[in-house]
Amino acid sequence: MGRDTTPNSFVPGEAALSPDMDLLVRRRIKAMGPAYRLSYAKPVHFVRGEGVWLYDKQGDAYLDFYNNVASLGHCHPRVVEAMSRQASLLCTNTRYLHDSIIDYAERLTALFPSELSQAIFCCTGSEANDLAFRIARRFTGAEGVIVTEYAYHGTSHIAAGMSPNLGAEVPLGPNVKTVPGPQGRKDAASVFERNVEAAIAEFLRHGVRPAALLVDSLFSSDGIYPDPRGFLKPAVSAIRKSGGLFIADEVQPGFARTGEAMWGFQRHDVVPDIATLGKPMGNGYPMAGLVVRPEVVEVFGEGARYFNTFGGNSVAAENGLAVLDVIRDEGLLGNSRKTGDYFRSALQSVDNDRIKAVRGAGLFLGVEIVDKSTGEPDRAGALRIINALREQRILISATGKNENILKIRPPLVTAKEHIDRFMNVFNLIMKH
Ligand code: PMP
Repeated sequence: MGRDTTPNSFVPGEAALSPDMDLLVRRRIKAMGPAYRLSYAKPVHFVRGEGVWLYDKQGDAYLDFYNNVASLGHCHPRVVEAMSRQASLLCTNTRYLHDSIIDYAERLTALFPSELSQAIFCCTGSEANDLAFRIARRFTGAEGVIVTEYAYHGTSHIAAGMSPNLGAEVPLGPNVKTVPGPQGRKDAASVFERNVEAAIAEFLRHGVRPAALLVDSLFSSDGIYPDPRGFLKPAVSAIRKSGGLFIADEVQPGFARTGEAMWGFQRHDVVPDIATLGKPMGNGYPMAGLVVRPEVVEVFGEGARYFNTFGGNSVAAENGLAVLDVIRDEGLLGNSRKTGDYFRSALQSVDNDRIKAVRGAGLFLGVEIVDKSTGEPDRAGALRIINALREQRILISATGKNENILKIRPPLVTAKEHIDRFMNVFNLIMKH
């Protein structure tokens, strides 16, 4: 098997680089080894970020329509201030009493349906999903997990084992079954339910009881499928009927990304047993965690202690509180909806037979690129568009099984003028 290339990764030797960049790439490969990838045919090298912009050494500004971690904008002053204030005062762990982490747990859980009332903190989405699996396993006494066929849930052994997205060379866990993603079908509710039921039946046939259905509630890596609204509901009932839990991976859709609610699962009118969180939770500071029903975590907590050296430390807590304040005070949920709707209509109005579909919710958008003569997924075409945008200093990426779906996730502070700028360049590129 050849070198795995993530959707738009740099291939050494393929692009002509400046001597400076070439040297940096060589040093990086030598010092960091072969597992890392660099984005874009010609890598980008940033030294500063502010709001929706990233700046390179020469001071050129790039419009960041990709990085959903800095979802309040890069280096948001209120978050930076909260983080540095606390870092100069105290940074210690959850084994000591501290007000901020309790305040944060209360503020965070208050943003969820009342059933989800307890929070546990870690540093990465991978850890959150790993822990969610352990809690589900303990609660149900079962082992089987159902995920979608191109899901990504993280890098730990358990999370990678639930991430078919990592490719054929990364084995799935022995009790992990995949079901096709929703694929934007109008009848996604019944098809997805049937597929989940079939996976449950297969498990039972092999004497494995299902512990959980784990899905990213926006199906980001399967290709971004927010619709039809509510389609998850029957599948969630099916897993519960079998004794398993429903775990919503909110690492991508959480914290107002979808524009209509803080959490992606709310689009489906379901309440998960566990919701896992990450990426935008700390606006760049490594924060992640999960929110869970107390009765689900009870047995786990009695039988096992939980400690995460850095997760939930006093700096993380102050950082997380500042993120929640900014989302509220700057009306970012509303902006995500309003600006997202504006962006989606602008993309939908592009008349081009290489665009098969535009979908998304709030400021998470996908544009499906196909070959105009065959209508087949066009991975190479999507890559060309991504790299052409990069040349015009606009950052996006691709997703989906065929990596032909443009993945566009601007910060929640994006304004119409930024979208207009994107659309001007995008329209020009699509004409070629
Ligand atoms: N779940 C989803 C849906 C993700 O997109 C990611 C990261 N891309 C993860 C989990 C893992 O998060 P982390 O990289 O923080 O471990």
